[in-house]
Amino acid sequence: RINRVVVASCSPRTHEPLFREPIRDVGLNPYLFEMANIRDQNTWVHMNEPEKATDKAKDLVRMAIAKAAFVEPLHQVSLPIKKSVLVIGGGASGMEAALGAAAQGVNVHLVEKTPVLGGIARHLNATWKGEPISDYVNGLVEMTQGNEAITLHMESEVTSTTGSMGNFVTTVAQNGSEEFKIEHGAAILTTGGMEYKPNEYLYGDHPDVLTHLDMDAALRDGDERIEKGKTFIFVQCVGSRNEENPYCSKICCTHSLKSAISLKKQDPRKRVYVVYRDIRSYGFREDLYQEARQMGVLFIRYDLEKMPELRRDGDGNLEFNVVDHVLQMPVRINPDLVVLASGVVPGDNKDLYEKFKIPVNAEGFLVEAHAKLRPVDFASDGLFVAGLAHYPKPLEESIAQARAAVARSMTILS
Ligand code: SF4
Repeated sequence: RINRVVVASCSPRTHEPLFREPIRDVGLNPYLFEMANIRDQNTWVHMNEPEKATDKAKDLVRMAIAKAAFVEPLHQVSLPIKKSVLVIGGGASGMEAALGAAAQGVNVHLVEKTPVLGGIARHLNATWKGEPISDYVNGLVEMTQGNEAITLHMESEVTSTTGSMGNFVTTVAQNGSEEFKIEHGAAILTTGGMEYKPNEYLYGDHPDVLTHLDMDAALRDGDERIEKGKTFIFVQCVGSRNEENPYCSKICCTHSLKSAISLKKQDPRKRVYVVYRDIRSYGFREDLYQEARQMGVLFIRYDLEKMPELRRDGDGNLEFNVVDHVLQMPVRINPDLVVLASGVVPGDNKDLYEKFKIPVNAEGFLVEAHAKLRPVDFASDGLFVAGLAHYPKPLEESIAQARAAVARSMTILS
């Protein structure tokens, strides 16, 4: 016959709803509950004074219990909700989210600022498992365009938004035409990311220096430099794990391994080097690393103190210098093609994020409400995130996240 519950642990920010659920499950009004915030407001702020903090904790618990005696049952009221979702960003995550929501029977408005759907996935060849990406993306585009529940707003941008969970009103401007309003119950932000455009290693200065996306295009188009080239170098961590972008872009090691293997498959006599800091081929991607080594791809490690250098020699050819960590000696290579494993950077969407009042981290990626408890929610209810705008990730992770965001938004819309 418990009639009140007091909890003294964890943060109400994340755990209050979790504790309310079982209270409701056993038939008690979930608001007959008090939390003594002995973490955020005590152990964290008084970590160097444990005895005083213990006294304060006891006080906080006494106060919570005293208050619990006075709390009254509260009853939730029902409000009408708009049974539609706004998806911002028409890349793979955005289309997955739109199709997922449409399959659940809600109307979807998909806002994309460019004239084409597909985002960065359109420029990729295959997943790390070898599945062709263009077939998948084309299929998504076709299904999105053909789905009656999805209204596409191409070349459009959000200009303002108001309201709250279940009842948002967002104003959208379509290129060259008048603004219009969209009413929606939830929004999923899939605004994507971009490839880092390097300033280093002669990129943009020499035609035989490519990024991963350039290399994917070259492989796709049967560029003759690939067929004729004898020596290839992949340089890792370009634009990642440095002062400017301190994070690891997660996908570029695997991408280099894939491209290196496809070069070796074309012709095992090609000399392929991967110049790296750490090879982050996590999980089963490690098999690609093993395969690349067995095929004869050579791995040379560099460190930040001795950065590799790429320059033009006297004849205008590329000359690459790196200090090999095993030989402890400088190594000089004359490559035909250099591929820079350039990282992922967030898109420039600061204005949009400010309109929705959603936070970004120091690097400009969107921040979820809680990495473990609410991984695709924003702290503001009714707003969700998926894809590269959140952090650099492989395609399958973006897809899973988009589906998760749909599932979360359906908890409101259903
Ligand atoms: Fe560097 Fe590899 Fe991380 Fe990319 S995935 S930033 S290349 S360690």
